[in-house]
Amino acid sequence: MIVLITGASAGFGEVIAQRLCADGHTVVATARRADKLRTLAARSGPGLVPMALDVCARQDVFALVEQVTREVGPIDVLINNAGLALGLGPAHEADLDEWETMVDTNIKGVLYCTRAALPGMVARNSGTIINMGSVAGTYPYPGANVYGSTKAFVHQFSLNLRADLVGKNIRVTSIEPGLCSGTEFSVTRLHGDVERAAGIYAGTQALTATDIADTVSWLVSRPAHVNINTIEMMPTCQA
Ligand code: NDP
Repeated sequence: MIVLITGASAGFGEVIAQRLCADGHTVVATARRADKLRTLAARSGPGLVPMALDVCARQDVFALVEQVTREVGPIDVLINNAGLALGLGPAHEADLDEWETMVDTNIKGVLYCTRAALPGMVARNSGTIINMGSVAGTYPYPGANVYGSTKAFVHQFSLNLRADLVGKNIRVTSIEPGLCSGTEFSVTRLHGDVERAAGIYAGTQALTATDIADTVSWLVSRPAHVNINTIEMMPTCQA
């Protein structure tokens, strides 16, 4: 199958891309940092095609989907993984630019990629879309105001999209992980600094990007008539 994944230069996306490549799929791995994608491609072999993409750049997203379809082939699986959490803190002290960046990346980026990839899937009466949500979209915690809300959007958009696509043989899944260590997001982007992050993960056995990649690999390999709507997964130790 031909897979297009966003946010593949680090964290979950990088490990998912490698895993799906090892499973025998052709993986178009995208993110803004082309140098990291090139390194990933060198490690993964010819099945991994690196292409730079900022999911917030609407026209670039549509152009990339066209290019992939033309040069690699029709997209069978879209994985909307790119996402970030910025400035987690009290709403009354929030930086509006950080809120907007989260909305642009976590919501609009998902919309652009989905809208760009869907017509090809509908025309072929086949496809799989996997969206990366978070338990933060279901369970509120202090400071996660806008981040959690963007992930609630991902959850609800996935369910509504699926309802739209009934009869078109296109699957939609939202994966909603809890505490996960070892990604850039976990270490710096979410928790602000390495020392603080280390404190949060000390003594816990958090999920890893490999756990997420295992789940994606399993999802993609389900028979076409099976749609797993939502996967909420947490480390056993997480309350
Ligand atoms: P990382 O920060 O480790 O990686 C994020 C990836 O997204 C990078 O490859 C980054 O690449 C890419 N990215 C960010 N902004 C953009 C953009 N505008 N356009 C294209 N790519 C972009 O995060 P994780 O792997 O930890 O997280 C991946 C997803 O999982 C996110 O959606 C996150 O919200 C979600 N999640 C993470 C959890 C965790 O604990 N780690 C828990 C639950 C959900 P580049 O900078 O090169 O563009």
